[in-house]
Amino acid sequence: PLAQLRDPSLLKTDALINGEWVGGASRFDVADPATGDVLTHVANLGASEADAAITAANAAWPAWRAKTAKERGAILMRWYHLLVQHADDLARILTAEQGKPLAEARGEIVYGASFVEWFAEQGKRVYGETVPTTDPTKRTMVIRQPVGVCAAITPWNFPLAMITRKVAPALAAGCPVVIKPAEQTPLTALAAAELAQRAGMPAGVLNVITGDGDHSVAIGQVLCESPVVRHLSFTGSTEVGRILMAQSAPTIKKLSLELGGNAPFLVFDDADLDSAVEGAIASKYRNAGQTCVCANRLYVQAGVYDAFIAKLAEKVGGLKVGNGFEAGVTQGPLIDDAAIAKVEQHVADATGKGAKVLVGGSRLHDRFFQPTVLSEVTSEMLCAREETFGPVAPVFRFQTEAEGIAMANATEFGLAAYFYSRDIGRIYRVAEGLESGMVGINTGLISTAEVPFGGVKQSGLGREGGHQGIDEYVESKYLCLGDL
Ligand code: ADP
Repeated sequence: PLAQLRDPSLLKTDALINGEWVGGASRFDVADPATGDVLTHVANLGASEADAAITAANAAWPAWRAKTAKERGAILMRWYHLLVQHADDLARILTAEQGKPLAEARGEIVYGASFVEWFAEQGKRVYGETVPTTDPTKRTMVIRQPVGVCAAITPWNFPLAMITRKVAPALAAGCPVVIKPAEQTPLTALAAAELAQRAGMPAGVLNVITGDGDHSVAIGQVLCESPVVRHLSFTGSTEVGRILMAQSAPTIKKLSLELGGNAPFLVFDDADLDSAVEGAIASKYRNAGQTCVCANRLYVQAGVYDAFIAKLAEKVGGLKVGNGFEAGVTQGPLIDDAAIAKVEQHVADATGKGAKVLVGGSRLHDRFFQPTVLSEVTSEMLCAREETFGPVAPVFRFQTEAEGIAMANATEFGLAAYFYSRDIGRIYRVAEGLESGMVGINTGLISTAEVPFGGVKQSGLGREGGHQGIDEYVESKYLCLGDL
């Protein structure tokens, strides 16, 4: 699939440190999850290269922060235009290493690029404050400055967007970055880095360190333990987030963590059912269920339960599974064998405890799983507590509004939640009652660069996107001018 790139020089397999492409002593395979074929071999770097990248970033910091926000914004805006210009090639690279359908991959490139555009503009709005004084001989004010060298550790499910929404605000604020992309999907990250180079990013300001699973652990440790790295932003599992948080404790590092989801999706008796079904499909089956904001648990009020599951099962039966490069495919493969095994485990556990399979229910072949709907699901089942991260919609039944909210909140996670209702009073009660960082009301798609994305409870710390997104990368400094 990568032979057809319009610009083959976007296919980079070396890491980027201090503006130089670095091969290192060994390489690791990157495979196509649809076929299992090895696409290419990428530089397998480790602790010493991570150190070198941190040193390079720190050396590049003074000149980068000294630029005006407008100057940094101009480089970011050039990067944005290059990402959009090369969206077709980037989408091909993304589908090849990640598996999502090509149209969805292209959507991610445009979405990922939009964070670069947004923060190129927002960098100019890192306003300070003057504070009315209580002492006539003094004046008090607050300025905001870049936090310093930032590290970003990112997952495979959005190989571009999870990088840009960390890196763009950091760069716009005046911070250099070291990126450690997921070992499954380094090629999109490296292609984006190549375009950043073409946009005129100075050497050392944007570094990408690649490594396989084992090396990622070693690189992560260096990034966490370095006193030079002032901020670490991570998107991935809650389990790894905890490890990184613990490793970052000795250096009191600032942290942005975007962790596990387990999103509830509620449908009330007064909902527009067709719209709810459409929203459930958009939220649940995007990226074959592999996003942290995918609906993981569907709760449907008793009065519309049967009608809802019938409509849902019919639509889900029409989804097309296959290689993401094939026209019309809406469901690609899962990322790896472990992902498939988890989905199989959740389905077997649910059916073993009494759930019914309305559609799908099993693996087609390799890493392809049928889009699945389960009914009569209860809170004793594994899929009630854990993120399935696959194309399985377990549908629970609830009676009252209070019960629905309580069931939705019965999780240690709190990233996204969704609900469908046409009652204005209920809309406010439920929106305020759900324990989550984001709520989709009568929609299954909520992500966009202009709003704050992030979770409560064990779904993480901090917000990405929106005007809030840049706050993570600046420190407030209070100035007190006396003896007037
Ligand atoms: P997922 O479940 O989405 O694969 P992970 O949390 O395992 O999420 O991985 C997300 C990112 O964290 C990847 O870039 C991966 O290489 C990295 N990672 C995984 N384990 C560690 C670790 N112990 N230390 C540092 N980085 C890690």
